[in-house]
Amino acid sequence: MPNEILNKIKYSDYDFFLEKLDKFFVSMDRMYNKVAGFYRFTCTGCADNCCETLFYHYTLLEYLYLQKGLLMLSKDKKKSIQQRARNIPKGTQGAMCPVNINGLCSLYRYRPMICRLHGLPHMLTRPDGNLVKGPGCDLFTESINTDEDCRLDRTHFYMDMAVLEKEIREAAGFSHKIKITVTQMIV
Ligand code: SF4
Repeated sequence: MPNEILNKIKYSDYDFFLEKLDKFFVSMDRMYNKVAGFYRFTCTGCADNCCETLFYHYTLLEYLYLQKGLLMLSKDKKKSIQQRARNIPKGTQGAMCPVNINGLCSLYRYRPMICRLHGLPHMLTRPDGNLVKGPGCDLFTESINTDEDCRLDRTHFYMDMAVLEKEIREAAGFSHKIKITVTQMIV
């Protein structure tokens, strides 16, 4: 998906949908914290940073949300993040996300969905009814020794996200497929 097409869409024209996304993420974060709290799991001090993982994002919503977050930053900070993004060759595995500065996400409130879900053991009921389970991150596996099986159920997150994405795409008349990293969203 060429950035020239995405760049033509201004987040401010779709703020109504981004506010809905905001509320959706608040409830998602609450569910995440509930499961993390169950295990007393925390990311603090993690050396194996998930911000070094090459994640792809697929929604117009997440792209516009990140753009909104970028515009909230000071000019200098935005410039420096854009420069960091330009310095990362396309498709590089293991590069630190340009938004992560000194171990902290500069766009924490506006980060995409997978950044919010990563870390905990999870499950997903696929449209064909099959249940797929996934493990926690390396830190979780190393630090949490338990027989309990409390999982973050991602099913409704993906379903609700799909509904919101459909709404904004219809409003924007946008039908392109998106597969984009945070770095590509920024350059
Ligand atoms: S957007 Fe934020 S949380 Fe997501 S990978 Fe980048 S720095 Fe990490």
